[in-house]
Amino acid sequence: MRKLLTSLLMLLISVAVQATKVEGMRVWTGPDHTRAVFDLSADAEYKLFELQNPPRVVIDLDKSELTSNLVVKNNKDIKKVRFSSEKNKVRIVLDLHDQLNTKSFLLKPTGEYGHRLVVDLNRDIKPQIKTIAEVAKPNRDVIVAIDAGHGGEDPGAIGPSGTYEKVVVLNIAKELAKKINAQKGMKALIIRTGDYYIKHRKRFEKARQEGADLFVSIHADAFHSSKVNGASVYILNQRGASSEAGKWLANSENKSDLIGGVVIEEKRDMLSQVLYDLSQNAALEESHKAAKSVQGSLKQVVKLHGTGFGQANFLVLKSPDVPSILVETGYISNPGDEKKLKDPKHVDKLTRQITAGIRAYFYQSPPPNTWIAAQAKSKKIKHVVQSGDTLSDIASQNGISMAEIKSINNKSSNRLLVGEVLYLPN
Ligand SMILES: [Zn+2]
Repeated sequence: MRKLLTSLLMLLISVAVQATKVEGMRVWTGPDHTRAVFDLSADAEYKLFELQNPPRVVIDLDKSELTSNLVVKNNKDIKKVRFSSEKNKVRIVLDLHDQLNTKSFLLKPTGEYGHRLVVDLNRDIKPQIKTIAEVAKPNRDVIVAIDAGHGGEDPGAIGPSGTYEKVVVLNIAKELAKKINAQKGMKALIIRTGDYYIKHRKRFEKARQEGADLFVSIHADAFHSSKVNGASVYILNQRGASSEAGKWLANSENKSDLIGGVVIEEKRDMLSQVLYDLSQNAALEESHKAAKSVQGSLKQVVKLHGTGFGQANFLVLKSPDVPSILVETGYISNPGDEKKLKDPKHVDKLTRQITAGIRAYFYQSPPPNTWIAAQAKSKKIKHVVQSGDTLSDIASQNGISMAEIKSINNKSSNRLLVGEVLYLPN
């Protein structure tokens, strides 16, 4: 009897010791889902139920205790969160505005994060897939997918004064989209529009669904040396990185899905691998052209890191058929760059040059059936701006007015960029 009592007591103690603490809750909302992340002190056992009238999700955690208040304010999907904690059991109820499609999973510690329970509430919006006819419409705009890296649970790199990469890159992406939309024949598609995480594969799936002609991933990463600074443009190289910085960046970038809460598992059979590699090769050639064009444009006014061009094995660039580039807008680990990336004047300069580079790429290599392709065909004479060229010189040499050149090329200023492609009437 005494032995039994002792072992019972031991059992009770071990239950008490093992109780997992629910330490807090974070919520991220995107256009089609809300993700609730619960921080746990250890692994946990849980059950989740979806109930109707009123719509709610109930999460029961065994051998657990609640050590913090859970609050959700002004959320599109979660009306209120309620909780109770007794006898080593925690019950959390998420009251919803609408019935949602729920998915949940546990995550093991990674980086600065510990054990987590992730609950995804999906609004199941059907992706608006463009029909081939729509995409093949003659004189269509070229579509530039702009993807701000990281988001939500994944802050990206953090600068010495506490700046989050996910915040500066979203701002840069929005500014870039504005400038691209101001160009005739070009349309921007922002992949991440707010502070939430999207897994790598989803990012370019979205770009492909919308018929993107180019995928531009925007980052501002860290390096182990805070002295390193400057911008660079990267393309994919499956075999490895062309520089130490590239390797470092790809490693930290690729971890992003783990932090954001997705486990990467990609297996392909032989045939699909071959097809994948083929389309990837064609896209890589275009990626190379686009990257060189953006690098050349950036070089004129922005400090580059080394040559400003690199290759590395970035997951986010593994889009088999959409040419893709990754722009490291600077090193957030460098105090000077960190400051610049937050400066509207610098962001303006940076995005202007990226836009010019993208535009020059499309004029050099226009996708068929686009307005730009039609321009490139009808205006046969191409003039690549050399250092020392002025708009008035080019106009008088070709016997036309400056206004005419500006209108043909959809330019608003007289300023020329070295490497810029101008079209002149035949
Ligand atoms: Zn990044």
